Amino acid sequence: MQYDCAVCLKPLDPDDAGTIAAVGATKDAPENWVWGPYPVHDSPCKDRLAHPDLQQLLDTDGYARTSIRLDLNDPHTEAVLEHWQKLMASPWMDRFAVRHWSDHLSGPEGLEAQTPWPDMDEVAHLAAGRLTCLGTRSRSREAQAGYDIAVHNAARGMRVTMFAPDLTPRNTLPNLTIYRDAKLTPELIRDRLETAAHRGKYTDLVVIDRLQVMTARDEDPRPLSHPEQVEEVSIALKHTAMDERLKQPPILLMARLERPRRDGHPLDIEDLGIAAELEYHADTLALLDRTHPSKVDVFISKDRSGPAPRHLTVAW
Ligand SMILES: [Zn+2]
Repeated sequence: MQYDCAVCLKPLDPDDAGTIAAVGATKDAPENWVWGPYPVHDSPCKDRLAHPDLQQLLDTDGYARTSIRLDLNDPHTEAVLEHWQKLMASPWMDRFAVRHWSDHLSGPEGLEAQTPWPDMDEVAHLAAGRLTCLGTRSRSREAQAGYDIAVHNAARGMRVTMFAPDLTPRNTLPNLTIYRDAKLTPELIRDRLETAAHRGKYTDLVVIDRLQVMTARDEDPRPLSHPEQVEEVSIALKHTAMDERLKQPPILLMARLERPRRDGHPLDIEDLGIAAELEYHADTLALLDRTHPSKVDVFISKDRSGPAPRHLTVAW
């Protein structure tokens, strides 16, 4: 793979050890990349890497400009650099944080799915066998969290399968498969995962965007509006997440908050409308509401591995 310098845009030649220089921004610890790393020539290019987003970060506490050498013989180097190069022009780039970056270089085996927002990992718990449901407001930044989490984990070398009938087609990423089946049932999701597993392609993370576009069964095409339909969907998804033949892929189920924001009222389970039935079968059920440009209010209604209900605020 040939890389061009992020500063002068000319090709980069690796050194004798097969490494190239890369520069980015980290927070608190050298492996916590929040911007970059981008490939560059050694001095002078290395010292000249500048970007409005980088400058904005470096003016904030705890962020530092960091340079490393990347081994081009490592297959994960390519995934990381491609990911960041694509994000460089993206308006949501600065929301991504690749932590545990060294995980990329040691391979995806044993990796656990994460969110791009460190505070949210504790909430989402995207571990094997788990069904996590996140409720968001439509047209909010958080409503895209399913896609953001899928991209984040695909870039970390995990195999991610996303079901999103409404998602507009985007750049493809290695490791990320997106299905846009208009008629989305738990059975179809299971069939797709089983077919891939038979070819040895086990999914490390399933993202479904979103509960309200699903139907319980092919022969019952009503939109999910009855408690028993929601219950049927959530039981089926939990079974899929726990299926050892599929290697227990964690499932992230996005949902919409149905009730408009009520000033002075914190989020509660009623805001999810029809989906309250999910609470019985999901391992985590959390509702998100942005109250600040860089903070999101989270109401955790259900958490099999922590206290619930509880409210918290996360950086996002
Ligand atoms: Zn250069």
